[in-house]
Amino acid sequence: MKFVNLLLDNVKTVALVDTDMRKYWPVAELAPGYAGDMVQLVQDYDRIKTNLVARGAGRPLAEAALLAPIDQPRRNIFCVGKNYFDHAAEFSKSGFDASAKEGEHVPEAPVVFTKAYSTVIGPGAPIPSHPGVASQLDYEAELAVVIGKPGRGIPKARALEHVFGYTIVNDFTARDLQKLHRQWFLGKSLDGFCPMGPVLVTADEVDAGNLDIRCWVNGELRQDANTRQLIFDIPTLIETISAGITLQPGDIIATGTPAGVGIGFEPPRFVRSGDVIRIEVQGIGTLENTVD
Ligand code: ZN
Repeated sequence: MKFVNLLLDNVKTVALVDTDMRKYWPVAELAPGYAGDMVQLVQDYDRIKTNLVARGAGRPLAEAALLAPIDQPRRNIFCVGKNYFDHAAEFSKSGFDASAKEGEHVPEAPVVFTKAYSTVIGPGAPIPSHPGVASQLDYEAELAVVIGKPGRGIPKARALEHVFGYTIVNDFTARDLQKLHRQWFLGKSLDGFCPMGPVLVTADEVDAGNLDIRCWVNGELRQDANTRQLIFDIPTLIETISAGITLQPGDIIATGTPAGVGIGFEPPRFVRSGDVIRIEVQGIGTLENTVD
């Protein structure tokens, strides 16, 4: 199943969607007792899922604006740095990584950081360029995991039982701030720095360990990889993060970006106002945003 978060006449509506037919069905009309946002849907899912069947003709997706599937996360977005071999190498070589040990290319353990929850914007929303604050803007195409069942101390072998589904994020980054402040939080957390969407797809619909992931800037293919190439796979990430932190329904884990980001080029190719960033993940869809 695929779900979207829509804005229709200024009212937010979580809906079941058929992206081929471009039709949607509000969850509140299908499932008695459900009221709320996408995180509430994730929490209620086991109770209401038998009701979530498209009934009737549906409504045209064109009449509504798409928001990020989880437009108001309950807490920061968990992120993983340097989680594809080629990207870990390009980042180390770029000189922008103040966190790496001398000569290190591949981390010994997952590099986990967070982005402020306030960074999330929807498909098509402009990404603020923050002139005067940041100047070296970069894109990062990523598969994002959305947690369903809560848990702490989740072993790898059971990790996928805790996944509700998947979406796409652009882990947008100000490289100058990321480098200057050493810790990555500021460079990753400016307002609007987490485009997300277009849909939240349930875990049963995709094989998350084998999805093509691509990113174009102004139509030029920059990133072209597959989630098979993750250094630390999704079960490992869940085991690592949940070891001492209870994961909650609706928590988001951005799994890292492949090679081909702006700082991977010599000289770096940062994005600027007017540039269009399009990210595609197989089985999920296309997330496109323009730098404001
Ligand atoms: Zn990232």
